[in-house]
Amino acid sequence: MINSEYFKFYLIQHYPNVKSFLDYFDINSHIIAVSLSAQTKDSLVNSVLKKLFSCYSTIDEIAKASLADITTMLKPLGLNNVKAQRLIAQCQILSKFPVLLTREYLQSLPGVGRKTANIILSAHGISEELGVDTHILRVATRLGICDKSDSLLVVENKLKEYLVKDLYSWHLRIILFGREICLSRKPKCNICPFSKECKYLNFSKNY
Ligand code: SF4
Repeated sequence: MINSEYFKFYLIQHYPNVKSFLDYFDINSHIIAVSLSAQTKDSLVNSVLKKLFSCYSTIDEIAKASLADITTMLKPLGLNNVKAQRLIAQCQILSKFPVLLTREYLQSLPGVGRKTANIILSAHGISEELGVDTHILRVATRLGICDKSDSLLVVENKLKEYLVKDLYSWHLRIILFGREICLSRKPKCNICPFSKECKYLNFSKNY
C-alpha cells in the first residue's frame, strides 16, 4: 500500500485548493446537483441546473412541474427519464419537509444513496464522511489502499482510516487525480509518482 503521508503530500501539492465541481447555491440545489451527477459529467450537470433554476425559481415549482418538461430538460445528462422522476419526487419531499442534514433524512430522498449522503454531509461540515465514486474506487484499488474484492462500504471505511480527516477535500483531490492522471483507460503512469507501488502497473491491468 502506498504510504498515506506521501500520497497526501503529492495530492496537496498538485491540488492545493479544491472546491465542489458542481455549482450550487444552497443545500437543496446541492442535493439535486449531486443526485443528477450520476454517470455524467459535472459540466453538463452545471449547465442543466442553470437552465432548470432559470425556468423554475423554487423547489416547489419543480415539484409541480410537468414530468415531460423536466425529462426534456434533463436529456443532456442521460438516464433522463429516471432522473426526472426522481428529481420531481425529491422536490416534492424537499418542499414539504425542509431538509435535515442527517443521513436518515438524506437517504430517505428518492435517488439519494449512501455516496450522495456522504458527499452532502462532508461538504457541509456535518460529519467526516467519504463519498466513494468510480475514480476513488479505481485509484484506491490500484494503490492497494483497498482490495479488489472489498465492498463499497469496506472501501469507504478503509479510506476513512487511511485519510483520517478533511475527508471532503481528499475526496475532491483523489477525483482530480483519477480524472487527470490515473484514468480508467490509458492512465498516465509515466508521470505518476506512485508507479513503484501500483498494482495496475506491476501486477495486472485488471486493477
Ligand atoms: S502508476 Fe498509473 S495506474 Fe498506477 S496509480 Fe499511477 S497513474 Fe494510476
